[in-house]
Amino acid sequence: MKNTPTHLKEILKTIDGTSGQIICTCGARDFGVRYCGEPRGGMVGFKKCGSKYALVVNAFCNGCGKSWELFDNAKHSYNGLICGEGITAPADMTRLCPECGGSLFEIEMSVDIEDEQQFIEEVVEMPPSGMSFVPEDHIDVWDWVVIDLKCSGCGKTIESWVNAELS
Ligand SMILES: [Zn+2]
Ligand SMILES: [Zn+2]
Repeated sequence: MKNTPTHLKEILKTIDGTSGQIICTCGARDFGVRYCGEPRGGMVGFKKCGSKYALVVNAFCNGCGKSWELFDNAKHSYNGLICGEGITAPADMTRLCPECGGSLFEIEMSVDIEDEQQFIEEVVEMPPSGMSFVPEDHIDVWDWVVIDLKCSGCGKTIESWVNAELS
């Protein structure tokens, strides 16, 4: 899809370009989930690191072992990247199912990408110092991200495990 974010093109199976299920290039749908963030009542939000904010989610394919970066606040968010509020931190926490303790999940992901015209006016024409962007980059700068998990073991769903405003 034309508007699917670059780093998700191979793995986000989508009809609208920006929401759908994560399926590995090997065909598997079950992933281990590792992250960096602040756990909040079963969900996860930004972790404050000094004056910056970290939120990183990676998926590890149970079929072929490949690891995929799903979201990094420092790289994929308007506030994180354009406003410089994001920081990359190691995804060293493992998400487990609260019901059965399982560590494999099916993953649904939905992102709001920046409006192209607004991106051109606010970012392409006035980039943050030391950075430069082209209009196509708007698909990789997000205003919102939602990640839902479904335990592969018991079917428990964790809706909006990540539900983060990014602009
Ligand atoms: Zn795989
Ligand atoms: Zn479970």
